[in-house]
Amino acid sequence: MPVSASDASTGTNGGLRGQRALVTGGGKGIGRATAKMLNARGATVAVLGRTREDLNSLAAEIGCEALPVDLGDPSAIHAAGAKLGTFDLLVNCAAVSEPVPFLDLAADSFERTMAVNAVGPILVSQYAARGMIARGKGGAIVNVSSVAAFVGIADQASYCASKAALDAITRVMAIELGPQGIRVNAVNPVVTLTAMAAKAWSDPEKTARRLARIPLGRFADPQEVAEAIVYLLGDGARMMTGLSLPVDGGFSAV
Ligand code: NAP
Repeated sequence: MPVSASDASTGTNGGLRGQRALVTGGGKGIGRATAKMLNARGATVAVLGRTREDLNSLAAEIGCEALPVDLGDPSAIHAAGAKLGTFDLLVNCAAVSEPVPFLDLAADSFERTMAVNAVGPILVSQYAARGMIARGKGGAIVNVSSVAAFVGIADQASYCASKAALDAITRVMAIELGPQGIRVNAVNPVVTLTAMAAKAWSDPEKTARRLARIPLGRFADPQEVAEAIVYLLGDGARMMTGLSLPVDGGFSAV
């Protein structure tokens, strides 16, 4: 059933009051910044993550519901879905990166990365989208991808493949869920200053080469990525779906 622009609205002037939002990987980094921004803009937030201390500290900070779940385990996702209610907004942010030279890449490492970074978002989105469809009010989903979906990065075959898959999944979701008033977009950040980046970009020479390719001359801040995510979730983006939006200081323009 088509849903009108106003029915599928997520509030006026970017306000998200009355909206229920689910953020995966909300304990750290970009997910945490996004959960806090959604809360500050009036949404009721629930987060899924792994490390209990992160979830507890976020819950204490913003009063959100926080559930520990291994998003690489489909049965754990199904169990979590049964405990959570329905949502208007979803951010699939949790991901892993296991850098390894291509010649040493093992099948189980590739499969672990795909399980968390591509299969996890599919299963969480199915759960959230079914709830949105049942309520008939539309909704919005943002998948946190990466510029790694567009270019090759040494030692990151699994991660690059998982993010290219996530962009492809985003487009298919947009096509299939659009008629129900559900918009689905991806954001594709360049290196963003979080724990994940510290692990993947510890080599100063590699870091300098990457910085030299970013016209704005710096890496992103988690807040800057959260701003793009929250924009795509909001009413201002009501005609936007199926996009992969770089948040990359011009990296993909070079
Ligand atoms: P981060 O600081 O490492 O945070 C990742 C979050 O995902 C953590 O809260 C982590 O929880 C959670 N997570 C990972 N595996 C999980 C699992 N199996 N089950 C449940 N939760 C899990 O990373 P980030 O830099 O904020 O990255 C967030 C997103 O941005 C990711 O999708 C990443 O690919 C993307 N991205 C990041 C960069 C960058 O340079 N940082 C650039 C482009 C795209 P635990 O720590 O408890 O495991």
